[in-house]
Amino acid sequence: MKKDRISRPLLEQYRSELSRCVKCGSCRTLCPSFRLDREESRSPRGRMALIAAVLDNRLPVSAAFEDRLETCTHCLACEFSCPSGVPVTKLIQAAREQAVQELGSGLIRSVLARVLRNDQSMRLGGWLAPLALHYRSGTVNVSRGKAGLLSGAKSASGQGKRGTIAFFPGCASSYIQPELGRAAVAVLIRTGYEVIVPEGLQCCGRPLLSLGDRHAASAVAEHNSRVLAALEADRIITACPSCALTFECEYPRLLPPGTAMPALVDIHAFLEREIAGLTLRPLARTVTWHDPCHLGRGLGLAAAARNILRALPGLTLIETKNPDRCCGFGGVMRVTHPEISDGIAREKAESILATGAAAVVTGCPSCRMQIAEGLHRAGSDSEVLHTVQLIEEALDSAE
Ligand code: SF4
Ligand code: SF4
Repeated sequence: MKKDRISRPLLEQYRSELSRCVKCGSCRTLCPSFRLDREESRSPRGRMALIAAVLDNRLPVSAAFEDRLETCTHCLACEFSCPSGVPVTKLIQAAREQAVQELGSGLIRSVLARVLRNDQSMRLGGWLAPLALHYRSGTVNVSRGKAGLLSGAKSASGQGKRGTIAFFPGCASSYIQPELGRAAVAVLIRTGYEVIVPEGLQCCGRPLLSLGDRHAASAVAEHNSRVLAALEADRIITACPSCALTFECEYPRLLPPGTAMPALVDIHAFLEREIAGLTLRPLARTVTWHDPCHLGRGLGLAAAARNILRALPGLTLIETKNPDRCCGFGGVMRVTHPEISDGIAREKAESILATGAAAVVTGCPSCRMQIAEGLHRAGSDSEVLHTVQLIEEALDSAE
């Protein structure tokens, strides 16, 4: 008996984009998961072939299919190299959402979706993060017991001559690395703005999208947009490029038509213009730099980040061989496939150590954790800093 053909509208909308893949394979060696195990189905080309097979009912949506989607870190390297302009990550995202629609959320996704939307659960989640992320180093524990203190903070009176900045901390600065959020706020205050950290913000929704849970991602997008729209802030700034990219690229499709779209800006875009106006002391440091995928390819701020570093007096920057290669954190791979994530981090750690720099700077909280873990496993105790932490160090007692 002939089987009924399953209609998959979430994938169907991208049929013509999918057909643009000419299977040239030039994306393969740029893909972190393919580079690690040379498995075709874990390359962008392989994933496009699997999605085409599912769309044409030649393959079912299965656990193996989900596995190939989960091991994409959303690094965007394939899209930037594709001569046919295939929107690989959009297709992978649609496939994730299609898989959840057909197979259900499952226990882990359901629990995570609840945790990510609840402040109390996230405070506990901050404590459990090293376990969930399979981290051995203490990097994500540095601020244990202080998680959550950032929320609701307001800059000292006397500031704010230029207006008000609302700082969007994201999950990492709120619950896992609040020292990073405090550094960002300290630097922003020195630009002459009043800085507020609004109460009641939730996760930006990126992890929920990586889990394929569009419904939960839409709910947090609506919630965050409501909270931010109620503020009278002149600017909304984050130190997490993944949050900024999610607002910029995903919120337009997640929010109901007509919803006011919050303009969240990554702190590097803002500080590139402001850094010259800050009074800074010499740092006498030699560092290297890692380009977060969402900061560089996603937001186009790789040059802005370097301009900021070059403006820091006394700082010497040594580039790694491939500074824009993914660190292996993105998507949900760190949780679902730690062995692949560790392999990618090992390659990143080796390239950092080859520079001989005593510290590495990056512009993303997740990359910071992942690189610290990779260096720890490689036997190095090199410091890993977010850009704002380095600037905060240069600000100390300068004004
Ligand atoms: S996604 Fe683009 S680069 Fe990759 S195989 Fe297809 S056409 Fe080639
Ligand atoms: S976004 Fe990155 S990890 Fe995902 S398929 Fe493309 S190159 Fe591979």
